[in-house]
Amino acid sequence: MKKYYIAVTYEVCEHNNIYLDMNEYNIDSSKDLDKQIREVAKVDVAPLVKFYESDTSDFKEIRLYKEYKFKEYECGCDGSQF
Ligand SMILES: [Zn+2]
Repeated sequence: MKKYYIAVTYEVCEHNNIYLDMNEYNIDSSKDLDKQIREVAKVDVAPLVKFYESDTSDFKEIRLYKEYKFKEYECGCDGSQF
């Protein structure tokens, strides 16, 4: 069965309680998945990318397939910047 994939980028800052979804990207399942995830993370400078799969192209029901964390895109604030 064909699967459909989307990746959602998140902006995260634990110190300021920020946890925002930014953009959704269609992921081409015939290509290298990890590479595409890294690319969308880079575009949005996203420390967190959630990768969902669906059995249907309308994404009515999605399942979390994998979470990717990118340390290099973390906000870098340490809670002491007052
Ligand atoms: Zn922060």
